[in-house]
Order: sequence, then C-alpha cells, then structure tokens
Amino acid sequence: MGNMKEKKPSKKPLVYYCILVAVIMMLLNSLVFPMLMEAQIREVGYNEFLKMVDEGSVKQVARNESEGLITFLAVDENGRERVYKTGIWPDEDLRARLEQANVEFAAAIPTQSSPLLTFLLTWILPILIFAALGQFMMRKLQNGGIGPNAMSFGKANAKVYVEAQTGKTFADVAGEDEAKEALSEIVDFLHNPGKYAKIGARLPKGALLVGPPGTGKTLLAKAVAGEAQVPFFSISGSEFVEMFVGMGAAKVRDLFQQANEKAPCIVFIDEIDTIGKKRDGGGLGGNDEREQTLNQLLTEMDGFDGKKGVVILAATNRPDSLDPALLRPGRFDRRIPVELPDLGGREAILRVHAKNVHMANDIDFNAIARATSGASGAELANIVNEAALRAVRMGRDIVEQADLEESVEVVIAGYQRKSAVISEREKQIVAYHEIGHALVAAKQSDSAPVHKITIVPRTSGALGYTMQVEEGEHFLMSREEAFNKLATLTGGRTAEELVFHSATTGASNDIEQATRLARAMVTRYGMSDRFGMVALETVENAYLGGDSSLACSQETAASIDHEVVAMVKEAQDKARKILSENMDALHKLSKYLLEKETITGEEFMQMLHEQA
Ligand code: ADP
Ligand code: MG
Ligand code: ZN
Repeated sequence: MGNMKEKKPSKKPLVYYCILVAVIMMLLNSLVFPMLMEAQIREVGYNEFLKMVDEGSVKQVARNESEGLITFLAVDENGRERVYKTGIWPDEDLRARLEQANVEFAAAIPTQSSPLLTFLLTWILPILIFAALGQFMMRKLQNGGIGPNAMSFGKANAKVYVEAQTGKTFADVAGEDEAKEALSEIVDFLHNPGKYAKIGARLPKGALLVGPPGTGKTLLAKAVAGEAQVPFFSISGSEFVEMFVGMGAAKVRDLFQQANEKAPCIVFIDEIDTIGKKRDGGGLGGNDEREQTLNQLLTEMDGFDGKKGVVILAATNRPDSLDPALLRPGRFDRRIPVELPDLGGREAILRVHAKNVHMANDIDFNAIARATSGASGAELANIVNEAALRAVRMGRDIVEQADLEESVEVVIAGYQRKSAVISEREKQIVAYHEIGHALVAAKQSDSAPVHKITIVPRTSGALGYTMQVEEGEHFLMSREEAFNKLATLTGGRTAEELVFHSATTGASNDIEQATRLARAMVTRYGMSDRFGMVALETVENAYLGGDSSLACSQETAASIDHEVVAMVKEAQDKARKILSENMDALHKLSKYLLEKETITGEEFMQMLHEQA
C-alpha cells in the first residue's frame, strides 16, 4: 500500500529566502570583493617601492599628482605582473633611479587590470546568483508553500494523487457486508459507465462512508478502487487546513481537474468533517479558508459530469457536524453506514488479519470475537499484531491462543476509555431491553415488527437498537397504532425492570420519544378523551424541526401534563402485561440475541413462533 502523503510544505520559505540572500551578500561584501580588489592593487611603502625599483622588478611607473599617488606595474614574488601603489615623496633622485632601472614612464596605469572582469565580478555575478536562487526558491514555493495567489504564478503544482493500484480488494474487508453491497454498485459503475449512461441513469456522484474510527472506512474506499481497478485520488481533509489562504480551493480545483482527465476514477476525501463542518456564518473571518475550500468543493461537485465515471467517496466519523449543503442531492446523497462489527464480523476480521501471521492450527477465533464486543476492526487488527509480538517475545515462531487472549486485554484495556467495549452484564441488560421493545411490538400487531435487532453499539452512541419498519408507506396513524407505539417505546425499560428489578439510563431516548408522542397525541392529534379535538398546540416552523407553542391557559397546560403522564403510564402497564405473559420468550430471545449480537426480524419471528 503506497503512502501518498504529500511532503509537508515549509511554512516560511520567504523568510528563509531573505536570510539566505542576506548571508550571501555579507559574504560577498566582506570576503570575496575585498580579496578581488586586493588581488588587483597592492599598496606598498615608499622605501619598498624604491627597493623594488633597484631590484629591477618594476616595469612601468605613473605619477598621479591629483591623488598624490604613484602607481606602478611590477613583477611580484611569483613572477606575475601586478599593479602597486605608493605615496609621492619629494625625491630628487627618483627619476635617475628609474631611468637606471630601465623603467618605463607611463601616462597612467589602469588601476584595475581588467575593468570588464571587475564589472562581471561585482555586478553580473551577484545578479546571476540571486536570479538562480530566486528561481530555485520559486519552484520550491510553488510545490509546497505559497500558492498561486501569493506569487501570481500559473497553476498550483498540486501533487498527482494517483495510486493506480491500491492493492486492496473487498476480500481484505471482513464483515461490513451492507457497506460492501452498497459500494459494489459503484464498482460496477466504474467498470462500465457506458452501461449506465446508455439508459440515462445517473449514479450518485458522491457516497459518504459514516462510522466510528477504525471501522475500515479508508480501507473500504481503497477496496472500491482496487475492485474497479481505477485510479484512486485521495486527500485528507486535514491536509487542506494547514494550507495558505486560497491554496485549499486551488487544490480542490486541481484535484477535480486531474480526476476529470483520468476518469473513470475515484476521488476519496478522508476526514471530510475537517473542511465540511457546518458554516456558521458568524466569526471574524477565522474560518474563511475552510469555507472557501468547502465552497470550491461544492462547486466542483456540481460542475462535473456525473456520467463520466468520477465517483467521490468521503469518510467521516462525525456526520452530524457536516454542512447540510454537502448532503444535498447531487452531492453526498448516499450515506453508507460502516458500523462496528458484530460477532460474526469480528471473527471474520480476526481471520483476515490472522492470514498474515503464523497461527497455531487450533485457534478459537470465535472465543476471541466474543471477548471483544464493541471493538473496531482496527482494534482487532491490532490484537492480532500484539499477539504476534507476544509470541516473538516468548521466543516462539507461531501464535497461540494464549497470545491472542493476552493481547485482547492489552489492546482493549488500552482502548477502554476511548471506545465502548461493553461488559457482559451491560450487554445482558441491553439485550433484554431491545427484546423488550421487539416483543411488545410483535405481540401487539402480530407481524414482523422489526427489521433488525442489534446490541452492537452504534455510531449514535446507542448501545443497541431495534430497527422498525412499517409495512408500506404510512402517513396516517390511528389512535390504536399511536398507543401501541407508545407501549413499544416503553417496552425496553419495562423488560429491564421485570428482569433486573432496576432501571438504567439506557432508556433516556425512549423516554424522550414516548413523551413527545404522548404529548402530540394529546395536544395535536386530538387523541385523548379529555380534550378531544381541540388543537392545543400549533406547529410554528415546519421546516426547522417543528417547534410548537402552547395555545392554552395555564390550567389547561397543567392538565395536559397530567394527561400525558397518565397516557405513558397506561402504555407501560400494557407493555408490562405483555412481557409478563411472555417471560419465557423474553428470556430465550434475549439469550439468543446476546449470543448473536445481531438478529433479523425473520429470525426473531421464527423463534417467537417456535416458542408458542
Ligand atoms: P477508518 O478509516 O474507518 O478509521 P481504517 O480503514 O483506517 O479505519 O482501518 C484501519 C485498519 O483497521 C485497516 O487498515 C485494517 O487493517 C483494519 N480494519 C478495519 N476494519 C476492517 C475490516 N472490516 N476488515 C479488515 N480489516 C479492518
Ligand atoms: Mg480513516
Ligand atoms: Zn430502547
């Protein structure tokens, strides 16, 4: 698996450039130029001059009265001719001495032996150096740091994020069957965009992988690319954040431009919540950059041709913090939940990762999976790795059951506070709670009331849930149905009370929902005997969640509260009666759920009927 992280752009290239230039200037000024000059004219004392004349090393002499100087050309110790100068002294003999030494009397001796060379050295060379340095720095800046806006240079030299072969396939992703199923349509689309285009179908442009950390979202995205064998452009939301102003937007633009050229392909934006957070409008421009990036992303998503075969996948573990604009149709309108694995899933994940290590033949993966309820795929992968490390520490070349058991404790204890690995007792309570809901629902309507019951903790923070689906679409709810629903909502807590004789906090959401429903029945649906068809509340803002306001007197408000309490109590009595009459089924089904962690509605009904 190639690592595609881009090299971090250096944040202060300009500062470095300035410092470098200053240092070079100083060096040139203080060392090189004086040396050059010195090489050209040497100052000597008058007596030294006379000595050189007598020695016969002086060739030419020129008097410069205005400057009070004698410049002369002489051969130095190394036999090279060079220019010397000395002061003028009143000296009667000098002329005779010079003539005797056969020195030529010159009009002037050029003080700089080669003006052209000096010019080159002092002017052209530094300019060349700076220009070259500038070019070099410019290229560096372009690649990483300052963007096109800052330097008004051409297109941002964004990295090509192609990773033609991610090397991952769906076989690498264990469990997560629902997510894989949803993604396999995308794979098919990428394989054969023409098939879809021909019929005029437009596949969702974007799919959002939503789930807790470590459940394999990144892995799934790579597997899609691997399955479809298309290029995979990936960028992480956090990479945008540390960029200079305007760079994030430019990068998004480039990314999509490249993707368009390489279509069919996958663009994967990991951790999209870092750029896709809700825009709050306020603030003092602190989030401008992020907002610009997000806007650019939205624009690009709207702009490109959905039939071309560019699929945008994104992953997040904080879906509720995303800007609603991102979730609009035509953008990330398909949401693929990637939940924590259930028992079967955990076992499968352990097996996938066990393939890469030498394992003893008699490993009981099921036992390990049982002990790790609530663990994510990443944690399970880590458990296998820790077990292998332990085996090495013990001087073995094969992983044994004990290694796995030991590493469960190491890894889970390490993660305990972060993720909800729930205890056996808690699991039991949750199982009874969920079966309580399902049983009350089933006994009231005698149809498969649930689609799926699970005690695998959900992204939402719920420890378990009972997924109910109404048959067909349902716009009207009769009074009986509403009341049954109320009873079903209270079923969870009631089962806990019946079996464990205590209440837990796990029912808070049920209580909230039940209260809201009961209240609406009294105040809006006219379903209470006491008030009948009098609207006591009006919905104010139907689009934004439907705030309602009371439209009645204080006394009525108080009696509404009484009515609501009475109604919920009545519903709970009904639930209690149903559950008491079916205690055997409650125990049996709860035990079964505890074992399997997830059961379908059909399984549930089948067991219920066997029971009867
Ligand atoms: P996420 O992006 O959801 O936080 P990753 O895809 O980065 O999680 O998963 C981290 C690692 O955990 C993966 O590289 C893989 O080794 C392991 N892993 C997670 N889920 C699974 C899975 N369903 N099957 C196999 N391995 C998994
Ligand atoms: Mg990830
Ligand atoms: Zn509940």
